Amino acid sequence: MPRAVTHRSAAELVTAGLAPPEMLDELERVAARYAVGLTPDLGDLIDPADRHDPIARQFIPDPAELDRQAGESADPIGDDAHSPIEGIVHRYPDRVLLKLAYVCAVYCRFCFRREMVGPGRRRALSGAALAAALAYIRDHPEIWEVILTGGDPLILSARRLRSVMEALALVDHVKVVRIHTRVPVAAPALITPALARALKSSGKATYVVLHANHPRELTPAARAACARLVDAGIPMLSQSVLLRGVNDDPATLSALLRALVECRIKPYYLHHGDLAPGTAHLRTTIAQGQALMRTLQGRVSGLCQPAYMLDIPGGHGKSPIGPSYIRPAPGAPKGQHFEVEDFKGALHVYPPDSASD
Ligand code: SF4
Repeated sequence: MPRAVTHRSAAELVTAGLAPPEMLDELERVAARYAVGLTPDLGDLIDPADRHDPIARQFIPDPAELDRQAGESADPIGDDAHSPIEGIVHRYPDRVLLKLAYVCAVYCRFCFRREMVGPGRRRALSGAALAAALAYIRDHPEIWEVILTGGDPLILSARRLRSVMEALALVDHVKVVRIHTRVPVAAPALITPALARALKSSGKATYVVLHANHPRELTPAARAACARLVDAGIPMLSQSVLLRGVNDDPATLSALLRALVECRIKPYYLHHGDLAPGTAHLRTTIAQGQALMRTLQGRVSGLCQPAYMLDIPGGHGKSPIGPSYIRPAPGAPKGQHFEVEDFKGALHVYPPDSASD
């Protein structure tokens, strides 16, 4: 399988011309705290002359990462509170996360699991821990969906993924397998026909959810990698993180969502930035996110519309936090008449007053 060479230190980023030499000491302090990883596929997209490059902002360490704000947490979405055994997060009744890998192709500066992923720890769940996790899934008939995540599960070999999928194939009550990954944009060559076949080998309905945040990430190679999955019969969805200075403007976000749909990838979630430590400089406010969602309404096709989601700190799960377009009509009996806002901002009464017909 082809393996990309990845920049894994501040010094390598400086040598590659992707970070200024005068910042080396500061970046090394950040890199000592949080993993660094940037593949050539994404590194090639960075314009070193642009101090605000949206790809660099996602992967080049920033001294601001050492500023931990009040409310930020090492486990911002509360995985630990719902982890009955290593590798499993069972937050919702009918689905579990199966965290297969502890490493990624790239290390995102805003990662909500930044305290749990990276080199210097085991690459993947051990054989014994994986066997216990699969036994947990077998023993819980309410589990309808298994979500392979990490780290990035697609960093693992096709052979290892196939063995997991074949184990899941034997669990009758599991009907759906979902895989969360950044690999098709970070290292598209890793998406081989053998890998696609391995992902299909459970015989379950299998979805791949791509994490992409900027339209430039969907290079010709990334688009071809996604096409290999879709053409192999694997439907794709996307998740993106709303990031200040990366995709928090209507033109960039619209271009990203359209590019995904052009690749036959249905935009699924736009995540509000989690309260991961040292990520305040990359978060927007919720009001800014809701305003952006309003600009999408009517501006881009319904196929392009993601749900804007907040993972409630403490492990309470996700809730949609997008703007509402409907409210009770003033003075109307409760629950009978509403005001609905159209995509141009005009209000309409629903159901229409019969006298105005
Ligand atoms: S690929 Fe996912 S798990 Fe890995 S660093 Fe990025 S956000 Fe975190």
